[in-house]
Amino acid sequence: MAGKKLTPERLKHYESVIMAELKESVAYIENINKDQSIGARESSGDLSSYAFHQADQGSDTNLMEQNVMLMEQEREKIRQLNDALHRIYDGVFGICEMCGENIQETRLDVIPYARNCFDCTEKMEDKKRKQRR
Ligand SMILES: [Zn+2]
Repeated sequence: MAGKKLTPERLKHYESVIMAELKESVAYIENINKDQSIGARESSGDLSSYAFHQADQGSDTNLMEQNVMLMEQEREKIRQLNDALHRIYDGVFGICEMCGENIQETRLDVIPYARNCFDCTEKMEDKKRKQRR
């Protein structure tokens, strides 16, 4: 099973999956940006008509922080997706970076930008878990 390359049909399939996810991620970030500017406008206008609630203030901040976190995650995903596209063009897509074996297609179907096969991912997580102890 080692070194068996994905067929051009499969590569095309993953390319379009990755492209679609890229588009989604970009749209997602644009939406958060829009939400944030609308939210800022609304709260600046109506402040005087509301009693000042510490709790509300707190949840607003949390929401913002959450948005920032989500955006970071989404940006990271975009980076990974772009990388995966490059790997398709370089002809190394679907090959585990650690052991050189093929990444299971069931894995690629879930995470099209995966860099490692199941086994290596598990080994890495295992290592991380041990390091934490
Ligand atoms: Zn591997």
